[in-house]
Amino acid sequence: MKAVVCVKPGVLEYKQVEKPQPKAGEVLVKIKSIGVCGTDIHAYGGNQPFFEYPRVLGHELSGVVEDAGSDVDLEKGKAVYIIPYISCQECVACRNGKGNCCTNIEVLGVHRDGGMCEYICVPKEYVVQTDGLSFNDLAVVECFSIGAHAVNRAEIKSSDTVLVLGSGPIGIGAIQFAKMSGAKVLVSDVAQEKLDFCREKYAVDGLVDALGDVTEQLRVLTNGDFPTVIIDCTGNVKAMESTIGNLAHGGKIVFVSVVKADISFNDPEFHKRETTLLGSRNATRKDFENVVDGLKNGTLKSEGFITHSTKFSTMIESFQDWTKPGSGVIKAVIEMDNA
Ligand SMILES: [Zn+2]
Ligand SMILES: [Zn+2]
Repeated sequence: MKAVVCVKPGVLEYKQVEKPQPKAGEVLVKIKSIGVCGTDIHAYGGNQPFFEYPRVLGHELSGVVEDAGSDVDLEKGKAVYIIPYISCQECVACRNGKGNCCTNIEVLGVHRDGGMCEYICVPKEYVVQTDGLSFNDLAVVECFSIGAHAVNRAEIKSSDTVLVLGSGPIGIGAIQFAKMSGAKVLVSDVAQEKLDFCREKYAVDGLVDALGDVTEQLRVLTNGDFPTVIIDCTGNVKAMESTIGNLAHGGKIVFVSVVKADISFNDPEFHKRETTLLGSRNATRKDFENVVDGLKNGTLKSEGFITHSTKFSTMIESFQDWTKPGSGVIKAVIEMDNA
């Protein structure tokens, strides 16, 4: 079968590799659509921590069941999406039901080869059958689940005012789930066209120009109360460090994006607010299921979210274009030529 291998930073190549064979408890999935994620772009750019090459990228995956080993009761030919976080089931996090932050986690396309290829074998626990959604929608379930998980971490209530920092794909997921909780939602970004998109598509309640005086804008938008929840989806040290000073007293901060740096803050500012600082890593199966339900019942909108697509046979060229500044990509997907 064909696979696209990231041989080293900046180099993707088509390679002929052996088609995998499912062992007991494994499912062979014929890939139909692959979402392109910031993680893939960072890995390609060589700035993803702990990344080894060569690697087949791609963890936002949908397809059909092609075959299965013994002990699997998924029907052949059925549409599936893949939960790409393979956890050990034994460590302290797994024992406490938090496989999303397993100490030995292996994320497809990061720690082991992912799905930019024709077929992939995955343990059955991570393959979920779902009817009624397109393969492209199923390929963006993972991305929306990250936002869903962040909103769950903060236990958002309808009385909250939530500020989402960064309106990329993860931010858009967080915005939609925060809106579903009934909270007032503000979004901040450096790009005005992205803010306008969020207002039009997701009916956010207030826009913050991240290049302007953020504190003053928040003071006005919240009548001096400031946001009770801030969800950072920027991966920007300055933005992350600014959260404490812009938070309501008694509020919560969720760091979704990871930055390869130390974050520092002033303890009295942190303390006087009785700040709750939360990390959010990956997503749980429940988050995935909530996203699928939301896409099915229309509370979660994917329309307009996928801005770019290409076929597998032309993906290397397209991928390179998408990584360029000014590409205008919100979410890009790669469709298999036979899909
Ligand atoms: Zn992703
Ligand atoms: Zn574990």
